[in-house]
Amino acid sequence: MQKSSIHPFSATIMAWYTDHQRELPWRQTKDPYAIWLSEIILQQTRVAQGLPYYERLLTAFPTVRDLAEAPEASLLRLWQGLGYYSRARNLQKAAQLVMRDFNGSFPQTYDDIITLPGVGPYTAAAIASFAFDEAKAVVDGNVFRVLSRVFGVETDIASSAARGVFTELAQSLIPTEDPAGFNQAIMEFGALQCTPSPDCSICPLRISCAAFKEKRVNELPIKSKKTKVKEIEMNYLIIEQNGLLLVRERVGNSIWKGLWEFYLMEDQADWLPYSRKALKSPPVHLLSHRKIKCEAWHVQVPDNFALAIPEGYRWMSPSEFESKGKPVLLLNLITDNLDCPILQDISPTYL
Ligand code: SF4
Repeated sequence: MQKSSIHPFSATIMAWYTDHQRELPWRQTKDPYAIWLSEIILQQTRVAQGLPYYERLLTAFPTVRDLAEAPEASLLRLWQGLGYYSRARNLQKAAQLVMRDFNGSFPQTYDDIITLPGVGPYTAAAIASFAFDEAKAVVDGNVFRVLSRVFGVETDIASSAARGVFTELAQSLIPTEDPAGFNQAIMEFGALQCTPSPDCSICPLRISCAAFKEKRVNELPIKSKKTKVKEIEMNYLIIEQNGLLLVRERVGNSIWKGLWEFYLMEDQADWLPYSRKALKSPPVHLLSHRKIKCEAWHVQVPDNFALAIPEGYRWMSPSEFESKGKPVLLLNLITDNLDCPILQDISPTYL
């Protein structure tokens, strides 16, 4: 195939995109920093949820230097509610690397961009094509779905071979004249038209689509492996004494590293000599490989009781705790229990 002659598939989805694309702020810019920020936010977040975060983060840190030099705590606080906090930490690490190794100017090629922490083949291709018009095809879940259906590709998308197979196919379809337009179009087509349960009757590709012709739309893409979800129980004690709360910052390799929480217990033995009041439990919290069931109690410790402070914990005022980044699970817990006076003072700003 001649690269300069646009494949009918590419021409069709790009024409469709012209009529159907959503107006999104990161599509109005060629600034690689802003595009990178949007791509990292959207990695595990829906557009509607990610949009205010994108705007807030770009306002707080308008340049890669601002992000590199920001205190980690303020970044995590702004990230609060988006989840997958390693994304935020990698963003900052990458910004620092751009300052150090690229003299503060964002790398301009796929090969350089992919060296940044938190940037995989998809994100590197997105930035390289959107900001610098490099002909690198993006391959994400939407692209897997569209290509497997239109071209009848039966490669298991959970297999290790899948990325290579679909990248090669997408790469053979990307027009060098407008790689950014093609990448935007195929992802938007997967997000809005060729959805998991698509309305094929209005699809401009239905004449040529292999899955539609063979009545296999619901079978493609093929995905074999099911990720095993681990169930976890978390029991929080909201321990209050003299108007202060017993809290800690999570350390180690936890997904919530750098975020703050109440006193956490793994089990519910007869752990306390004083009274406790059960709080409303937040709904089961789902992470990619974990399902968290959480229960919580409010414990009012008498002012004169000498409580041995467990390692890693400290007393903190509600207003200071309010200013710290916290996992969504905790924000939900707080919001659901605002009849508990001390929780009113740490009511979350961002949800
Ligand atoms: S015809 Fe249906 S399955 Fe095929 S590309 Fe269109 S929406 Fe997707």
